[in-house]
Amino acid sequence: MARIFSTPAPGAPPPGDGLSALPGEAPALVLPGGPDGGVAEVFARRAGRLRALAEGHPLGGFLALAADLCAAQQAAVAGGAVSGEGARLELLLAVLSEMANVAMPAEARAALGRLRSASAGELAALAASLFDGPPKPEKAEDLAAAPFLGAALQAWWTLRAAALPSTEARRHGSGCPVCGSLPVAGVVRSGRGLRYLHCSLCGAQWHIPRLTCANCGATDALSYFTLQGGGADEGEGGDGAAGKAGVAEGAASAAETAKGVKTEACARCHGYLKLFYLEEVPAAEPMADDLATLALDILTEAQGYARLSRNLFLPQA
Ligand SMILES: [Zn+2]
Ligand SMILES: [Zn+2]
Repeated sequence: MARIFSTPAPGAPPPGDGLSALPGEAPALVLPGGPDGGVAEVFARRAGRLRALAEGHPLGGFLALAADLCAAQQAAVAGGAVSGEGARLELLLAVLSEMANVAMPAEARAALGRLRSASAGELAALAASLFDGPPKPEKAEDLAAAPFLGAALQAWWTLRAAALPSTEARRHGSGCPVCGSLPVAGVVRSGRGLRYLHCSLCGAQWHIPRLTCANCGATDALSYFTLQGGGADEGEGGDGAAGKAGVAEGAASAAETAKGVKTEACARCHGYLKLFYLEEVPAAEPMADDLATLALDILTEAQGYARLSRNLFLPQA
């Protein structure tokens, strides 16, 4: 798939606007973990959602493997707070170790084997380059290793985000107020219909108004695509959408994965963002449901748009 945007370097975002609460006391920023459970629960829920999505899905094997990778992240972060150089390497080793007995395709198995047999020095160097710079799994020797490295990186940043005092977060252009990475998808909540973007790396969610390009801020150049063929889409929906409507006709393999998801594509910057509507799919989890709706990416990219950010579980060319 074409990619014109890359994930910016995570790190402390430069100072910007604050994140004051929205009218009605809705939070402008939701950190991972939260009152319902710790970071381990974030990955447990994602794993459960992926297992549910895998049932009867044409990419069921891939989704089940992604669920196992989330379970490995869950186990790796369950050890408690992680800080310091040694702890970061331990987190990477824990993810690799948890995956050792998981069934997977030969290519992935070989990549995992190469990582697990690397010397301590090699892994320490890899962990340093992985955790201290922007996500760059394409620099790994083998693209098949990228999801394992991405999983460790994501676990590390989710722990950091969960421990961050929200007063330290700052709006950061189109990137995450916590780590600076671009959103993997957006979620439109039920009730007031507020839209939050979900960070591809640390899992933080931040509010931006609907009918606004998440990349460039344009409000007058948006089109919407769905996997539900059979007629013109009604736009963003629910609130008098101003955007031009469009439908990418396609073989929606499973009704579950076609329902409640659209892409919002921008004619100004030619980027697009996937949106999940919780009123229609209350169980949707952005990272998981993104992987189960890759057919919508293919169709949207065929219309000439490029995805805003990667999903770290996908090998990238
Ligand atoms: Zn983030
Ligand atoms: Zn745009």
